[in-house]
Amino acid sequence: MERFSGRNVLITGGGSGIGRATVHRILAEGGRVVAADVDGNGLRGTLERAAADGTDGRLTTAVLDVSDEAAVRAGVAGAVASLGGLDVLVNAAGILRSAHTHETSLEFWNTVLAVNLTGTFLMTREALPALLAGGRGVVVNFSSTSAAFAHPYMAAYAATKGGIQSFTHAIAAEYARQGLRAVCVAPGSIDSGMTHDPGLPADADLSLLAKLSPAIGQGFAGPETVAGVIAMLASDDGAFVTGTELRIDGGTHM
Ligand code: NAP
Repeated sequence: MERFSGRNVLITGGGSGIGRATVHRILAEGGRVVAADVDGNGLRGTLERAAADGTDGRLTTAVLDVSDEAAVRAGVAGAVASLGGLDVLVNAAGILRSAHTHETSLEFWNTVLAVNLTGTFLMTREALPALLAGGRGVVVNFSSTSAAFAHPYMAAYAATKGGIQSFTHAIAAEYARQGLRAVCVAPGSIDSGMTHDPGLPADADLSLLAKLSPAIGQGFAGPETVAGVIAMLASDDGAFVTGTELRIDGGTHM
């Protein structure tokens, strides 16, 4: 399948987990990709895997902190210049921090908002002119099952994911007439850097998390399960999908 042949794609969080799996999926389907991440080592791993797959000729990497306005401005401009345009933006970069809400400092709260919510806004704002220039641009944002279903100890994180959903609906309406589609994926129970250690408080009541186990499969799924859905949504197979979100959690939240 070559759904991304001739398409230019910028993916944040491309050094790990779902972002990295999406980089490899889009490359495998013929796209040209810039993978951005704050973690340079992770990006090196993404490049090594692309080299092993023989797709590294269409991959560029960029170390980028999505919460840094100046860095995002320069990083998106550089990506658009090196790709020669932009068709798809995938905002996968994110952090999960857990805590009792009554012990959550303002600094903690602001850090989670800065990366997840403000980072998604900054990347999208800077990419929009190039996405609109192509006439059929797509933004894929990352919500989470925590946006609509209660995930204790993750109030800051969940709030950012709800905010990302609302933000995505707004831009989907605002730019629809210019051919832009904006969608969210809402993953849950995916094996990634973030879920290896969710950092729950030592005295967390784990029975409150008992519902968080997938109904199908043998437990957490690999990040490629989400990458395949992103490839569908970002390709012309998703041409009539915008302003909505798709839950990918093995039925955890049915
Ligand atoms: P992951 O393996 O931790 O990948 C996230 C990547 O984003 C990491 O490489 C991380 O680097 C990077 N990142 C963190 N802060 C950044 C910043 N300021 N600028 C640029 N990159 C930054 O976790 P993942 O599960 O694949 O996460 C991808 C997305 O899926 C996130 O938005 C997450 O909220 C969402 N999600 C995941 C699940 C799940 O079950 N895994 C469920 C719902 C939603 P560091 O490792 O250095 O922090």
